[in-house]
Amino acid sequence: MDISMKRRTLLKVIVLGDSGVGKTSLMNQYVYKKFNRQYKATIGADFVTKELQIDDKLVTLQIWDTAGQERFHSLGAAFYRGSDCCVLVYDVNVNKSFEALQNWHEEFLKQADPTDPAAFPFILLGNKIDIDGGNSREVSEKKAREWCAAKGNIPYFETSAKEDYNVDEAFLCVAKTGLTNE
Ligand code: GDP
Ligand code: MG
Repeated sequence: MDISMKRRTLLKVIVLGDSGVGKTSLMNQYVYKKFNRQYKATIGADFVTKELQIDDKLVTLQIWDTAGQERFHSLGAAFYRGSDCCVLVYDVNVNKSFEALQNWHEEFLKQADPTDPAAFPFILLGNKIDIDGGNSREVSEKKAREWCAAKGNIPYFETSAKEDYNVDEAFLCVAKTGLTNE
């Protein structure tokens, strides 16, 4: 089939989670195949795009990053408006970032106000699994999966933005899950 005949879809994806969990790093690894060890708070509320093909569909993921405002819970309505999928991220080595997921989940539903909250596509990423060979881990995979089950079977991936582990797989799931919400 001619590529121009294919169905094109734009999906708005927003990435939420505590500051420092690796949201920007995951996006950079996925879109640019780059990992930057230096800590740089994201500047400017912005998005990056990535095109992928799923069956006969061309999907453009428009992935929105927080601009460091996650510290102040001051993300504006424009950030949330029209999202097709919400990626929640925590750091498996920091229990506090896992506990915060509850707030991020609620905040998303409140701000984005999707028509069917129970059916809205979320994905959970447990990042930084490379650190210390897993010895500094504070949140077990079991605990994370239980949280996902309780929230209506949210798909769960353990990732490392640093080692590029499970990053493509996670965002492919984001695209597929986002498509179900069209
Ligand atoms: P954000 O505030 O959620 O956007 O987090 P960043 O992407 O800025 O990452 C915060 C810090 O964690 C930076 O120093 C990153 O280099 C580091 N980091 C991010 N992802 C990983 C990872 O998978 N493994 C390791 N070891 N460090 C990571
Ligand atoms: Mg960031």
